[in-house]
Amino acid sequence: MIEVVSVCVTEGQRELRERLESDLGSLRKEGLSVDIQEKSVGNQGCVSVFLSSTRPEALAFARDTAADAISDTIVNRGSKTLIDRFLKTNYHYFDDDELDIIRGYTEKALFGPSDESRAKYLVNQHSQIRKRVREYIDKNKELIIDGFITFRLKDWVEEVEDALDRAVDEFLLDREYKEFVNLLRSFVDAQEPKVDEIHVFLTATGTFKLMDSQKNVINNEYLEDFVLELVDSEVNHEDLLISALITIAPRKLIIHCPPAVRSGHTIETLRQVFDNRLTVCDSCALCRGGETAFGAGSTRARKSE
Ligand SMILES: [Zn+2]
Repeated sequence: MIEVVSVCVTEGQRELRERLESDLGSLRKEGLSVDIQEKSVGNQGCVSVFLSSTRPEALAFARDTAADAISDTIVNRGSKTLIDRFLKTNYHYFDDDELDIIRGYTEKALFGPSDESRAKYLVNQHSQIRKRVREYIDKNKELIIDGFITFRLKDWVEEVEDALDRAVDEFLLDREYKEFVNLLRSFVDAQEPKVDEIHVFLTATGTFKLMDSQKNVINNEYLEDFVLELVDSEVNHEDLLISALITIAPRKLIIHCPPAVRSGHTIETLRQVFDNRLTVCDSCALCRGGETAFGAGSTRARKSE
């Protein structure tokens, strides 16, 4: 018997063995002897494949089969193991719940948003890794998966590390946003409402106009000063609108906007801050008019324009 390959893993040894047993079964049907042995070396479990034949086609088939199984093991367990390793070394200060969220974000960053993009990523990854594994076991009998990942798949390791860093950034931004929204909400709750009802006309470009219940444009002095203060700075319309509304702290807030804006970020933030004070209109003549009813530029809030 000759040894074709020996593969060492930290976990998943049994699955690897079962996979090789079943995939190499066809060689047995051709009358060859295939022996698969397991042993432990330190924290590694090693699975070795022995073959009774030195026929090139039989050896090539055994190596192809092993390369497939090894690549699957790397792809299926690898990114998770890598993510956990990086989290432990670089981001140990997050608690378990936070780490779970970051893990989810990392996978999304790596795999894309859908099951389809995930499948595509894994197939592509598998074929690249398989090629390198196959080349390696042509020349070497022993493959230690951890070492192979660290030294032979450096580009992939970097890719996972990048995805993780991006996931952490996203997580921190998200957390800041939530804290910010909570702060605004407590501010609004603590304020004595200055008006009972306010109507916001919001365009697709984010410009807006504020009106009272009688549909008079609101031009409060405090709002003017405050808008003036912001006009020259790099503030965006959403910030401007939210700040204005928080200053006014209306008891009731009705938003009129094109349909596409209703599910947008501005409305989402306002909803979180103003909660059940907020209504998004879909029934007045303007809102029923669809996208074109809200001409951009006609509802500029900037005083300078
Ligand atoms: Zn409306």
